[in-house]
Amino acid sequence: MSDQPVKPATRVVQAGRREEWTGGVVNTPVWRASTILYDDVAHLRATGARDTHHRLFYGRRGTPTQWSLADALTELEPGAEATFLYPSGVAAIAACLLTLLSPGDELLLVDSAYDPTRSLADKLLARMGITTRYYDPLIGAGIAGLIGEHTRAIFMESPGSLTFEVQDVPAIVAAAKARGVATVIDNTWATPLLFPVIGLGVDYSVLACTKYVGGHSDVMMGSVTAASGRFAALRDTSFQLGQVISADDAFLGSRGLRTMAVRLAQHERSALTVARWLEGRDEVARVLHPALPSCPGHELWQRDFAGASGLFSFVLAGGSDAARAALIDSLEHFGIGYSWGGFESLAVPIDPQRHRSATECAFEGPLVRLQIGLEDPDDLIADLERGLAAWRAVMEG
Ligand SMILES: *Cc1c(COP(=O)(O)O)cnc(C)c1O
Repeated sequence: MSDQPVKPATRVVQAGRREEWTGGVVNTPVWRASTILYDDVAHLRATGARDTHHRLFYGRRGTPTQWSLADALTELEPGAEATFLYPSGVAAIAACLLTLLSPGDELLLVDSAYDPTRSLADKLLARMGITTRYYDPLIGAGIAGLIGEHTRAIFMESPGSLTFEVQDVPAIVAAAKARGVATVIDNTWATPLLFPVIGLGVDYSVLACTKYVGGHSDVMMGSVTAASGRFAALRDTSFQLGQVISADDAFLGSRGLRTMAVRLAQHERSALTVARWLEGRDEVARVLHPALPSCPGHELWQRDFAGASGLFSFVLAGGSDAARAALIDSLEHFGIGYSWGGFESLAVPIDPQRHRSATECAFEGPLVRLQIGLEDPDDLIADLERGLAAWRAVMEG
């Protein structure tokens, strides 16, 4: 094989597949295991004494099924050292922050973070004597002014959950590096295919693999990919926490990953079609989508990202919670449910102002978040047309 680096869509197909793990079949099979048997006592001792990375030792340390997926995710982030897998995205975030923070330390957490990340900081981390300061997602290089003597980590999520502000990741990384502070990003929305962050100097890239990696709304999983020199500490903490995912789930993760590039391309196209249509409607005050110029941080998205995925929100031009509920309830092709990244479209009411503490968050009306799935966007638009009519009926009635 040539040494020429391949494109991300090729990498997603080839990554993590090794002959000794697959035995010649294409997708790494399910290696279910707790006990691993040794030839004799000497063999048992020799295995236990060595670094067991990629060596069968005991089920909690994984089997080729988990290693294959972890390696594939690492290969998607040029410059990364290795990846650890977790039974959910939240478990991945928790393990990463527990790796970095100790009592007395301070965390800088973006104000637009996923709400369970805020809960982790405000409850578990607070109980351990770790303080959190929330910062404006648009702070950019201004983050330097918040870094104090006890600041140990900066947590980013770009675009932000629910409101989709795009952060200036390179500027924040530069400020963090100047002060020896670690950086973590929740990269679930873009995935490394659209935004490879380790190459930008981020120390830890977190994915809720439940979303686009799984891609079929049938598996819970998270991952943390570490930059060079950053993996050992993460692995030690994760082993101490007893984190492991089942071989069956890892198999589903690998199964989903192989089609992630084509799925993302379709999610992007369809979501943009729907977002632009919504933008032209009188019933809609604003569409919050990083690829639209009206989205805060849009120019950073243009500079740093290779594309967009399929999740965005829109703000209704006024109206009550009941009018919003009428809109959502009238949709036939959108399910009403949490999570996203699967093949099917979803709509949920969101109230981001409830999850803010450092920034003002005011909107013209209630918000709806859409996950645009793989259906034909014409059908989704016809559905939303019905939804907006239902909203109007409540407004006028
Ligand atoms: C869903 C989600 C998570 C958490 O993932 P789970 O697998 O549901 O625990 C984390 N971050 C973001 C941005 C998410 O949307």
